Amino acid sequence: MSATRLLIEADRIIDGSGAPPLHHGAVLVEGERILAVGRQADIGRPDGARIVTAPPGATLMPGMADVHVHLAYSGITNKRAFRAELAELSFPAIALRAARYARDTLHMGFTSLRDMHAPGGVIIDLAASITRGETEGPRIKACGRGLSVTGGHMDQPGWGDHAEFRDLTQPCDGPDGFRTGARREIKRGADFIKINSSCSAARIPGRWDRQEMTDAEIRAACDEAHAWGMKVAAHTSGGDSLHATIVNGADTVEHAHFTDERIIEAMAKHGTFYVPTLLVNERNFDFTPEEQGASPEAWRWLNASRKAKWRTLEAARKAGVKICAGTDAGYMIPHGPMNWREIQLLVQGGLSTMQAIVAATATNHELLGIDAGRLQPGLLADMLIVAGDPLEDIAVLGMRDRLTVFKGGAEIT
Ligand SMILES: [Zn+2]
Repeated sequence: MSATRLLIEADRIIDGSGAPPLHHGAVLVEGERILAVGRQADIGRPDGARIVTAPPGATLMPGMADVHVHLAYSGITNKRAFRAELAELSFPAIALRAARYARDTLHMGFTSLRDMHAPGGVIIDLAASITRGETEGPRIKACGRGLSVTGGHMDQPGWGDHAEFRDLTQPCDGPDGFRTGARREIKRGADFIKINSSCSAARIPGRWDRQEMTDAEIRAACDEAHAWGMKVAAHTSGGDSLHATIVNGADTVEHAHFTDERIIEAMAKHGTFYVPTLLVNERNFDFTPEEQGASPEAWRWLNASRKAKWRTLEAARKAGVKICAGTDAGYMIPHGPMNWREIQLLVQGGLSTMQAIVAATATNHELLGIDAGRLQPGLLADMLIVAGDPLEDIAVLGMRDRLTVFKGGAEIT
């Protein structure tokens, strides 16, 4: 018996390539992959196919991806409450809660996610459970625990010195330390390696883009990951530390607020993926510094990075840098209802609506190395029927009752 076939007909098809929409289109799916994409008149209605007719005016498009999330975190907006949660929950409890967050994000049209660090590396287990079909959720690429120098961005002080935590992150020092760190995460099952090469926001007044990892440490982590066929994602802030991160081999740079011509050129030359995480920075301004527990220096940093990020986005767009959509959901942002807003912010920052959709679909999936993100024969049938036209009103992507989600050709209900 041949695999089951599904035919979806829609008034408008956005295929993720950036080409103008195809009208009166159809996508034929066999099993979990796309078999054909074209005009309804050319595809016809093959015998035995289940036929889904999208409502009038609806759009069929690839499933979206969010390439910067933290499923281990709840999106709680106060720093002290965030730390309390981290101390109170066991790793299994964090993983079980993350399963709910992953499912909520899938239902909002995000068929793929990249998880950018979890205590105990527990999102690796969630991703595997989803792959085995035990848990409903998007396709997840996970890094396990992020690698950071001792006392660095992901190994910050602030707990009482009697408090001892295990495996929240993985501090490493020296090139050999970072090689070992990468190998540990790979042994655990990581899909890529996360490093923290720029210092944390506002750690040292006025030195917002101080380099935390040495060039040799960055290179060692990247060489090791690349030897295993994996990408390296780097938490960065800007300046010399960002430039060093790019030229020493990182494949994706996160945040990357403060840039200049030399940095933009390096990104374009090296084919570095740029994940501006616009939403998390904007989200900070939904709350007062007191509400979120931001120090005066952190507040200055947030304001400065808010200004700088728009300039960086514009320069990157003009230089043809690969721009991705990632929110930092889990950190001040709940999982599911707000992920779409990164696409809206990319448009606010100067991308055309089509370019922003391409960022969240084709470019994001290119970064992830997942065979999806375009409606093209041979690719995974991860798709959305959107009741409306996102090119006219991008906000329709954030309305759950307007979305029908397909993952691997199966409708998510
Ligand atoms: Zn993050």
